[in-house]
Formats: sequence, C-alpha cells, structure tokens
Amino acid sequence: MIQICEVGPRDGLQNEKILLSTEQKVQLITRLINTGIKKIEAVSFVNPKVIPQMADAEEVMKLVPKDKGVTYAGLVLNYSGLNRALKTGIDTYHVVTATSDEFNLKNAKKTVDQNVTELSKVIEESVQAKKNVVGVLGTAFGCPFAGDISTDRLLKVADSFVKAGASEITLADTTGLANPAQVNYLVAEFNKYFGDKIELGLHFHNTRGLGLANVLAGYLAGVRTFDSSIAGLGGCPFAPKAVGNVCTEDMVNMFEEMNVDTNTDLNKLIETAKWMEKQMCKSLDGMLIKL
Ligand code: ZN
Repeated sequence: MIQICEVGPRDGLQNEKILLSTEQKVQLITRLINTGIKKIEAVSFVNPKVIPQMADAEEVMKLVPKDKGVTYAGLVLNYSGLNRALKTGIDTYHVVTATSDEFNLKNAKKTVDQNVTELSKVIEESVQAKKNVVGVLGTAFGCPFAGDISTDRLLKVADSFVKAGASEITLADTTGLANPAQVNYLVAEFNKYFGDKIELGLHFHNTRGLGLANVLAGYLAGVRTFDSSIAGLGGCPFAPKAVGNVCTEDMVNMFEEMNVDTNTDLNKLIETAKWMEKQMCKSLDGMLIKL
C-alpha cells in the first residue's frame, strides 16, 4: 500500500494564476476527502503579498471538515509562518528549505545554512507544541540556477531537521529535474544514512514528463509516501507554460493497475479532477481526464 499526500490545494493552486475563492478551496478539499485521500497539504503560511493564492489559509482551515480522520498539513517557511500555523487546527507542519544557496537567496534571501538554523528552531517549537513535522528539502534533485546538489549537502540538511525533531523527510523536485536512476540512488543513500527510523516521502513535478517514472523508481527503491496533485494542478514559477505536480488520479491508476493498494476511489478522483477543470476554466494536465 502507498500513502498519498494530496498537494493540489497548496502546491497546485499556488502556481496557478486564477485565484479560487475560500468556498471553492473548501469544496475541493471536501471532494478530495470523499475520494478516500487521508492526507492533504491544504494551505501555506506565506506572506500574502508574495503569494496571494494562499492569503486565506486561516479561513480555509476554519471551514474544512474536521471529523473525517484526515491529516491536514500546512507549509511553514519561517517564524511568522509558525506563529500563524499555531493558531489554526493544522496537525502537520511541512517545514521547507531549498538545498541550493542560489535558489534560497532568490526565494528567502538567506543561505541554506542560515535558513536551516532558523528552521531548526521552528521545528523544535513545533514539536514542543505537539505538532508532527515533515522536513521538506526543495531542489533536492537539482537547482535551475546551481545545477546538481551534492548528496552530502542533502543528507546534512535532512540530519539537521531530524535532530530538531522532524519525524519524516520529503525530497522535493521543485523544478522537475529528477530522473529515475537518480531517484533510485538518492533513496538508497538516504536509507543507508537514516536506516528505517525516518520515513521518506517523494515530491515530483512533471515539468519534463518524468513525474510518474520517478514515482515508480521511488516505489521500486522502497518508498511508500508520495505527494501528488489532483488533475496535475500547478505549474512552475520559472517556466510559465510548464505543467504541474505529478497527477493524483494518474498515479492512483498506475498503482491500482499494478495491484498496489491506494485506498482511494479512482472514479471519484477523476470526477473531482473534471470538477477542478471547470473551476480553473481551462484544460488541466492529467491524462485520465482526457479519456
Ligand atoms: Zn512542489
């Protein structure tokens, strides 16, 4: 069986130009829950001036169903994000840093080491507040500005987050540069370093068409936790025409066809993806919705 973290409401919508209303977001999350999805990255606590798509994070969290046994995750990028998250009902904090100095300086105006120092304290405080923390390492499979990221650097950042209290690490391919051989290699290196005490998740973008190939490589290397986005919602801030995250219903179809259980209802996922296309007023990138 695999665990899906649905990131459409956050990573997906954040990279779309069309702004959805709070009601539409809550409806999307409710529909996703009805498909059987158990973990949803619902919001991001970022500066609303920088990312207006996520400005209503608190409102969304007030209105989403709380009685369905779903884990809600929110993105926390700094102390102000933590302070906002602590006032909501979010159970799991996705604490994110890029692993390339070039990328991080452009996005957070800090080096990776400066970011990791602040975020380690954020993680410690989150754990003290009884929150579950997933450390997310962006640009883990390559950076559009700096090229390859060394394995030592990745493991060192992951280690800092684990020492601060993160119970899980996600390696994120922010701009879709990963390939299956690299996924296989990095998962093996991660497992060699951490053994089986830290859960590893993978987050791929389909920017170069390799999303599902990378998911499969991760699965064959032993990973069971994958991020994906309904209808393949999203894009890439550096490439206006680029496609988004790995598509949830296409990924579910792949695993179900391989007899790997996903605990979701594929037909309901496809219905939700088609509903999503109507909300966005355009065709989205998922393949099954085109059939
Ligand atoms: Zn992403």
